[in-house]
Amino acid sequence: MKDKKNIRDRIRSAKRKKLLSVDEYVNGIRSGDRMVLGRAITLVESMNDDHQALANEIIGKCLPFAGQSFRLGITGVPGVGKSTFIESLGMHVLGQGRKLAVLAIDPTSNISKGSILGDKTRMQQLSTAGNAFIRPSPAGATLGGVARKTREVMTLCEAAGFNTVFVETVGVGQSETAVHSMTDFFLLLLLPGGGDELQGIKRGIVEMADLIAVNKSDTAPELAKQAKQAYKNAVHLFPAKESGWTVGTVLCSALENKGISEIWDLLLEYYSFSKGNGFFDRKRGEQLRYWLEETINDGLKGMFFKQKGMKEKYEEIERQIVSGKMTPFVGAQSLLEYFSKPD
Ligand code: GDP
Repeated sequence: MKDKKNIRDRIRSAKRKKLLSVDEYVNGIRSGDRMVLGRAITLVESMNDDHQALANEIIGKCLPFAGQSFRLGITGVPGVGKSTFIESLGMHVLGQGRKLAVLAIDPTSNISKGSILGDKTRMQQLSTAGNAFIRPSPAGATLGGVARKTREVMTLCEAAGFNTVFVETVGVGQSETAVHSMTDFFLLLLLPGGGDELQGIKRGIVEMADLIAVNKSDTAPELAKQAKQAYKNAVHLFPAKESGWTVGTVLCSALENKGISEIWDLLLEYYSFSKGNGFFDRKRGEQLRYWLEETINDGLKGMFFKQKGMKEKYEEIERQIVSGKMTPFVGAQSLLEYFSKPD
């Protein structure tokens, strides 16, 4: 009995591992088959070269069907209420008849061996909703690598018919720039009270925001109002947005579902506004150029360090630079020459 079960399990797991053809993946994704979508995402996230090649083909074939969604970046320090907010806004969005994919970029997932962002257990209603798809952050050696994978996953989700995408990240480091470079709208969640320095948010991140929402306004209404006013004043001092959009500051309570539908209305307003003045499509074009450049940069760097003898050469030059015998510029020049024609 037990043996039979073992055999059945083995067959099942072998079947699970068997790769599909490119067309099977693409057709599955296009028909909204979540299991096939999940398996294709696993290929995108895989470090295996064959999987990568297959993933690239799938992405290429999905590309013509992607790009039709509204992409929202959401950031804020841990504990600000991101997952509660995503759950609340997400359920509202589903109520509007939309299909929602929730993705994440978590630069710490390598260290903690698993992403806390985009974790289904944090979004219990959404994770069981038929029209929502939640995927935690892919792991990866570099933030650029993680971000690229998230971008590719977004392409697959869009091809699968998800017309709304949330990309979540923590508001403490460079990952915001990555999220900003793949979303149409950037929403910053803050806590009542305390300036951005106190909340550990970099000014650059505040400047990137298209909307600042002070969450947990139910806990300290007065402080929340003060924070909202302080950010409203601060936003006036920032350079005007290229989009022509005036950055809003609002109060909300993700826990009590307050201010959530108003935020969604603002997002839709931005969508029409930026579509109307051409900024939406221009920004998408800029993002594509950015990713072309980033991918070339990453690729070149990879090739550079894979060059035979480069590691030794690099270490030797690094020693000379650190001991003051060579400037970094001369060192870099010499390494680049070695890269283009190794001896
Ligand atoms: P994250 O780390 O940014 O994803 O934050 P969570 O969504 O996990 O929220 C952290 C804690 O704050 C949880 O205990 C939530 O229930 C609570 N929380 C989130 N939003 C609100 C809110 O609007 N009001 C109140 N009172 N608590 C909230």
